[in-house]
Amino acid sequence: VPRPGAGIQPLLAATLTSMRVSEIGEFGLIERLRAALGAQGDGRLAAGIGDDAAAWRPGAFALATTDTLVAGVHFLPGRVAWADAGWKALAVNVSDIAAMGGTPTVALVTLQLPPETEIADIDALYAGLAECAAAYGVAVGGGDIVASPTFGITVALFGEAPEAAGGAGLLRRDAARPGDVVAVTGTLGASAAGLAVLLGDATEAAGEEGVRSYLVGRHMRPAPRVSAGRAALAAGVRCAIDVSDGLVQDLGHVCEASGVGAELRLAALPVDPVLARVERAERATERAATGGEDYELVLVAPEEAIRATALASDVPLTVVGRTVDAREWRGVRCLGADGREVRFERGGWDHLRRRGDV
Ligand SMILES: [Mg+2]
Repeated sequence: VPRPGAGIQPLLAATLTSMRVSEIGEFGLIERLRAALGAQGDGRLAAGIGDDAAAWRPGAFALATTDTLVAGVHFLPGRVAWADAGWKALAVNVSDIAAMGGTPTVALVTLQLPPETEIADIDALYAGLAECAAAYGVAVGGGDIVASPTFGITVALFGEAPEAAGGAGLLRRDAARPGDVVAVTGTLGASAAGLAVLLGDATEAAGEEGVRSYLVGRHMRPAPRVSAGRAALAAGVRCAIDVSDGLVQDLGHVCEASGVGAELRLAALPVDPVLARVERAERATERAATGGEDYELVLVAPEEAIRATALASDVPLTVVGRTVDAREWRGVRCLGADGREVRFERGGWDHLRRRGDV
């Protein structure tokens, strides 16, 4: 954890309109980032930025995850707001904690900064990060700043999960059983459409500015489902994953880890309502099934536990499929409204023959 030394520069906020990282110095920047984070919530940290390491009291299960966003690889500077990048850098990690049934607690943030980085951009980045931290009760305990030819932000996030009666206290990928119900929180597909807008790909949505900014917002400011994950755990759900790669692929990870097969009913997918309005039904459904970065939760559990979660959750839950014994089939089968299997490929989807016909 970086420690501001005695030589901290005074913060010249009024004159920083075009100041660069190379001009403010590491300690000046650390102090500035600390100020951007503000009071840091509920006093969770016993020690944080400015000490040698962060300290806090852990819960029953300690959770840890990390993720990096690199400019030009994971987001496009110039096309997205720095504040949105800051939100997303933390939010994707919060989603992984949510997918374990946990609560996020403390984050460490490492910045890779080209010396010519504008201070105003870092201010905006941290404003977005601080907004996400406040929304999810995360304290930023410290981190590191390194010079780099490319901008990057790495967040390491810690969390905790309660120890429930019977020893279970986590949502795991390997806890699905044949005959379970597959359910998903919220809606799907808008994030992938937002990415398409950012990349300038042709989309039916591209005509309306309001729609474009909505879709980009869904891509850059995901709302991780921490409370839904907690509700699921309390309701007896033991298996979950968050939708980062796309529902079909992420459910595939559950199938592999649990040794089951799964069936998804495409007509049941909760397609984002704006996306459903502006895109062809097949295209919107494809984005919902395979698009990714929705950061919703996929819950796989006996029907009772799913029903109990739906009653307790603050977000809508939609049943989209079921699991089967791996001897019936492995991996994920997608069924169209007509009951025929649909296979997604780059650029479209393929109808396959009914299973009995093959
Ligand atoms: Mg994940």
